[in-house]
Amino acid sequence: METILFLAHAEDDGSLSRAALETLTGALELHGQMSGATFVAAVVGGNVSAAVSAISGCGAATCYTVSGDDFASSRYASDAAALEAICRASGATIVVAPATSRFNRVIPGVAQRMGGRIDTHVGGFSVTGTELRVQRGYYRQRMIGTLTRAARPWFLTIDGGVFQAWNGAPVAVKVEALTVAVGTALRKTRVVGYQAPQASVQTIRPDAQLLFVAGVGWTKKQADGQVHLEDAARVILGFLDKSGASLGSSKSLVDQSSEGQNVFSFMSHLNQVGQTGATPRHPKGLSACCHGEEPHVVGWRFVGERRAINLDPNCGWAQGKADVLYVADAFALVTKVGELL
Ligand SMILES: Cc1cc2nc3c(=O)[nH]c(=O)nc-3n(C[C@H](O)[C@H](O)[C@H](O)COP(=O)(O)OP(=O)(O)OC[C@H]3O[C@@H](n4cnc5c(N)ncnc54)[C@H](O)[C@@H]3O)c2cc1C
Repeated sequence: METILFLAHAEDDGSLSRAALETLTGALELHGQMSGATFVAAVVGGNVSAAVSAISGCGAATCYTVSGDDFASSRYASDAAALEAICRASGATIVVAPATSRFNRVIPGVAQRMGGRIDTHVGGFSVTGTELRVQRGYYRQRMIGTLTRAARPWFLTIDGGVFQAWNGAPVAVKVEALTVAVGTALRKTRVVGYQAPQASVQTIRPDAQLLFVAGVGWTKKQADGQVHLEDAARVILGFLDKSGASLGSSKSLVDQSSEGQNVFSFMSHLNQVGQTGATPRHPKGLSACCHGEEPHVVGWRFVGERRAINLDPNCGWAQGKADVLYVADAFALVTKVGELL
């Protein structure tokens, strides 16, 4: 019989991230389909009481916790010790966790300590009888693979956006607080602060309805023989401001910044969408001045409806990858849409 463990970490304010709540929905669906399986949960973090309360209605037989100042921040050594203790105490055979940066860093190591196996970026699963099959994308090969494993414990990190966030009323739950010793050796790494862009200049918005992707065309000579970088920056930022869209970029455009050319200060490699970039999930996507092609087969595969603006009707996007292609000047079109908004 399988024991399914839902694993989460509390955020700095003690809450659970949306990724964790989505993963809980997935773990519960898995439990519902797998007859005879036991379901347990665990939370690690500084103060986990709010997080435990938030998930208490999920029906877990036990909720394990590891908490305290040593576990408030993401740190490989203390997180690995905490998660290992949870896995041993729960006897989990299937561990389901959100693919957050904190867990992506540590869970592979925990799988190794437990003599288990891990599959990352899981985007779905199915259960036939008692056999679990999971799905994950293989970017380079442009395939979705379906696989199963006999080895246990089997760790699965679930991509964001696959399941609805779980939402249930709090109930009394059996909590088992584990004590994990963190000696000085494990405390060698300390988090001293965060460096992050101000929220007002944050252009990556995972929850936005629209993904707006800019390409190199914004930096190319236009009909008058000149480049119009300042106009481009104003048009793009104005559109983002009014539409609330998330900003993506082609690789070529963000690469220009690293090569010292004068491009957009509000854009970095974190904005890159594609084969070697991010594969964001948004209901709609609009790409402008971007000739697209291969990266977009991969980078846009989770984007619901895809539109593009390009002067060239033969651009890569026109070849069956965009649902709608506007053959138009992006400067004029995006400015006009900005005015209408
Ligand atoms: C292994 C590998 C991995 C890669 N990974 C990625 C990746 O992850 N992401 C990625 O993006 N790329 C990736 N690439 C590169 C990719 O193949 C393309 O070269 C790149 O995305 C093209 O960038 P672009 O569309 O911005 O620029 P360009 O190809 O230069 O296209 C610019 C477009 O702008 C249009 N344009 C110009 N002016 C206007 C205007 N006024 N109005 C409307 N349109 C206009 C032009 O018609 C042109 O189509 C990868 C390549 C390789 C080999």
